[in-house]
Amino acid sequence: MLKKVLIANRGEIALRVLRACKELGIRTVAVHSTADTELMHVRLSDECVCIGPPSPGQSYLNIPAIISAMEVSEADAVHPGYGFLSENADFAEQVEDSGFSFIGPRAETIRMMGDKVSAIQTMIEAGIPTVPGSNGPLDDDQRRSLRLAREIGYPVLIKAAAGGGGRGMRVVNHENNLLQSIYLTRTEAKSFFGNDAVYLEKYLENPRHVEIQVIGDGEGNALYLGDRDCSLQRRHQKVIEEAPAPNIPAEVRGEVAEACLNACRRLRYRGAGTLEFLYQDERFYFIEMNTRVQVEHPVTEMVTGFDIVKEQLRIAGGEPLSASQDEITINGHSVECRINAEDPEKFLPSPGKVTLFHCPGGPGVRVDSHLYSGYTVPPHYDSLVAKVVTHAPNREQALTRMQIALEELLIEGIKSNASMMRNLVTDPRIRRGGYNIHYLENML
Ligand code: ADP
Repeated sequence: MLKKVLIANRGEIALRVLRACKELGIRTVAVHSTADTELMHVRLSDECVCIGPPSPGQSYLNIPAIISAMEVSEADAVHPGYGFLSENADFAEQVEDSGFSFIGPRAETIRMMGDKVSAIQTMIEAGIPTVPGSNGPLDDDQRRSLRLAREIGYPVLIKAAAGGGGRGMRVVNHENNLLQSIYLTRTEAKSFFGNDAVYLEKYLENPRHVEIQVIGDGEGNALYLGDRDCSLQRRHQKVIEEAPAPNIPAEVRGEVAEACLNACRRLRYRGAGTLEFLYQDERFYFIEMNTRVQVEHPVTEMVTGFDIVKEQLRIAGGEPLSASQDEITINGHSVECRINAEDPEKFLPSPGKVTLFHCPGGPGVRVDSHLYSGYTVPPHYDSLVAKVVTHAPNREQALTRMQIALEELLIEGIKSNASMMRNLVTDPRIRRGGYNIHYLENML
């Protein structure tokens, strides 16, 4: 088992990892920027190391500073959380080359999944359904691209192989715009991601976003932990998530689960991972794989009773999977609302001092948050400040618990999107479930 883990992240996820370490008797090292000395997990950790100024490039993305902190603190392993360096294959490689464990997949797996074209190719080989498309990078043969798009049928989507965060995508509705769109996406991809490879896929017009949680031991064994629906999105950013995804026929779900497990076994996948799909007309279409713990992992933990973060730590410590597939069952329904420090109308960040924080509670309520009264939310980072999660025997009751929890939640001194969340959880269409990825944007 690991003895000491360095947490290379901040905010709620750093606190989540710290709590899991404590449960397992693992000592913790918090690394933080000069803007983050007051973070809750920094106060609660066994040791802390300041790794640089507020700008993420000089602190949370500063690989040499983090590896030095591992050396001075004599940590065995690093947990990267999500965002920051969590999907940086070079970081994972340097950590392992320096003699430490990276809590996540092998660098080669991260690299393969970070390139969406190679990810799609790998998944096709494993028998996972993908979106009809070029299944490889587009070359300079314009006639071939035109023919391919015509075969697939418009609208099509041009995507950057190295894209992320909803950037590097362009919808093309008509043949006349295809070549220019390929050119523009390529140029943008080159400047944003330093890689001009682009590919083409069918643009699905009313899909849901349904993703599948897996965890592997790195030796070819893996567990399927069910699915989540994350269709409520604004600018491709998830707003509310739930588990399980509503209204999916058991056999459709079973088939895709089996294919995902097959992919993990073939890849000898190590650690937690999420296969993201679009779901339309009772069919799954793979779009990408995230090789880290997701923001929305708590909804899966609530319905399975399986602790994903503790399992990540155990796997990195060389232990076998702690459950067999038949021990994983889905109980009831869980919903998560992402509470951001932001103006609920203009969606602009709202950093500053939290004068009062009151956390909801009661049966089936979980809040993952680093906030406390008197804490100042710094302006330099992502605005996520709390995840309110509820669990109940069914979806309706989980949403009612959410409604009550959001009424109890008090965050004063800064603006938050809690009021928007209160409106969303009572919206009749959201109550019915099964809305597509465009629903929230259209509603706003
Ligand atoms: P990123 O890595 O930037 O998050 P993804 O490939 O995961 O990119 O896609 C992000 C979002 O874009 C999806 O959740 C979905 O809303 C939309 N999207 C992606 N591919 C398609 C597609 N083929 N058809 C329709 N919408 C898509």
